[in-house]
Amino acid sequence: MDKNISRRTFLATGPLGLVSLRINGLAQTSGVISPQDMVLVNGKIYTMDASKRVVSQVVIRNGRFAAAGNNVAGQAGNLKRIDLKGKTVVPGIIDAHNHIVLVGNRPGWHVLMEDVFTVPDAIKRYQAKVAEVPRGEFITTVGPISAMQFAEQRLPNLSELDAIDRPVYMQAAQGGTQTNSAGKAWLEARGVMVAANGGIAGGGFAGGQTGAALALKLLREQMLTPAARTRNSLEALTYYARLGITTHLDNGAFQSDLPSGGVANENTYTMYNPFLELNAGNRLPARLRFNYLHQDPPDDPKLPTLSQRLKHSYPFFGNAWMKSGGIGEFTGGGVNGLRAIAAAGWRAEDHTLNLDSFRKLVEEREKVNAEIPIKNLHWVISHVPQTTDDLVNRFKAMGGGLLVGWGPLRTGMNVGPAYRTLFDNGIPLGYHSDGGDITAINPWLNFYTMITARNLKGDAVNAGQTLTRQEVLWLATAANKWFVREDDLGSIEAGNRADIAVLDRDFFSVPDEEIKHVQSVLTIVGGKVVHNAAVI
Ligand SMILES: [Zn+2]
Repeated sequence: MDKNISRRTFLATGPLGLVSLRINGLAQTSGVISPQDMVLVNGKIYTMDASKRVVSQVVIRNGRFAAAGNNVAGQAGNLKRIDLKGKTVVPGIIDAHNHIVLVGNRPGWHVLMEDVFTVPDAIKRYQAKVAEVPRGEFITTVGPISAMQFAEQRLPNLSELDAIDRPVYMQAAQGGTQTNSAGKAWLEARGVMVAANGGIAGGGFAGGQTGAALALKLLREQMLTPAARTRNSLEALTYYARLGITTHLDNGAFQSDLPSGGVANENTYTMYNPFLELNAGNRLPARLRFNYLHQDPPDDPKLPTLSQRLKHSYPFFGNAWMKSGGIGEFTGGGVNGLRAIAAAGWRAEDHTLNLDSFRKLVEEREKVNAEIPIKNLHWVISHVPQTTDDLVNRFKAMGGGLLVGWGPLRTGMNVGPAYRTLFDNGIPLGYHSDGGDITAINPWLNFYTMITARNLKGDAVNAGQTLTRQEVLWLATAANKWFVREDDLGSIEAGNRADIAVLDRDFFSVPDEEIKHVQSVLTIVGGKVVHNAAVI
């Protein structure tokens, strides 16, 4: 299989007759794909329905599943028939909290490589991109990449990156920032210090005028055109569709009117534009839901931004491909903010990084819940590395839910989340990666950690807190219905939207280490073939 995602694979006319069109001469990656009716047979189809049936056949009509079972192909008449040859099929994966919108808005020709595990393969991935990239423009990877994913436990250095005939800029969630000689020359001419090995200091959440923060700011100022945003947004969604994700719930960015050096910063009012453009052209290869992130100060009852949002926007507004959600991953405004959100009847989500912040969030919600019940609003607390049974039960009593995942790059001992304890508690629990700026989006890297309690390096980081493969898949599919508030996603059953991933290997039986390498060979969203590796 071609390991490089490219427009060639995206536009290839595979056995399913994937149709592509060019619209108004837009970017080469333009492609409108129509839904197709079809019947899939001879699969090992994990439906994740209420009885968790595993069946062999599924019929897709008008973008939805018409039937799933062992003897339903007869209903399909003369529909296009796909022989899955025993492959494992799962419902399209739902990532209930990540930062895909930031990833779409990266400067340069953005290349994702969360499925690359050696430095030489990383170089090859970049080299495969060169032909598309005009001379002088940067090839970039900013955010969801880490030293830990590589066998070498480091990013490529300057001399290795010099094998790529374009300037390269890599800024990793973990493992630093690297460039090559062409990138070094460009950056040094603009005041960025680059070490002899291509390393650039600083970066991360910090803005500022030095090191990687300055480099990222310059790249955004000079290379982040509207066309780049649209191109990179489409590529990002297509890339993750190849890894089986069919629905992303984006959780925003830190607001910055101007191009910033902070990896998590963007203009939170305009960063959806490329996705809106793709949606308007029927070109989204995956579903996008998005929360609005707010950070009004807790001591200002006027809630300058949140009050306007609640007045002038609509929750759960849009179409089946792109739809608004609630407020998150920060609600801002403390109890005042939560009260306003509850009064408006919106969903709210905040994250915790330790036990103190989890306690504070639960207590604030109890205050608000005593005035305005939040029982049916599906309020969420995400990350939850540290929890107690008492606090979890109190949040559960209010009708809240927790999101876990968020683990593959973590280091230390017993760093949480307590996957097993939380799963067994019975509180609504779902899967999120939180990837895009500080960690990985690739679901299989996250699943590996949840199943083995090891980080990507292989270190045990979460003793005793493991889940089974079946449980993890359930969290990332059917359990996430609750978190996106859509009952017709996340399971393969008649009436639901036809979102599936046909896997390249059997997730349920491969050795643990191979879980990290799982990909989809055929991803279908709403009956549209959005990724087809042409191996079936
Ligand atoms: Zn987040």
